[in-house]
Amino acid sequence: MFKKGDSAVAGFLIVAVLVSAVAVFHFAAAGRTVVIRRDEEILYEGSLYENKEIQMEGNTAVIESGTVRMRWADCKNQICVRHPAISKRGETIICLPHRIVVEIR
Ligand SMILES: [Zn+2]
Repeated sequence: MFKKGDSAVAGFLIVAVLVSAVAVFHFAAAGRTVVIRRDEEILYEGSLYENKEIQMEGNTAVIESGTVRMRWADCKNQICVRHPAISKRGETIICLPHRIVVEIR
């Protein structure tokens, strides 16, 4: 049988687990970074969770609600613009004609 003290301890443990789970999730989320490079030169580096429009020569990328997409580009093939928005670590959008790489780290 549970005593009153036992359920208090159990309750505390559940809260502790929930809090640490939220903290871990929050940390992982906050740790996600958008990096935009042309060749090896970093043009932009910032949080995935900060809505922003990044204008570059020939390309415009947009960070919106934890996703990144290429809103506009004046490249010939438009593959980067047609690429779906990315949101996961390791995903990239590449504009080959402009040698632009948008990456989530
Ligand atoms: Zn392109």
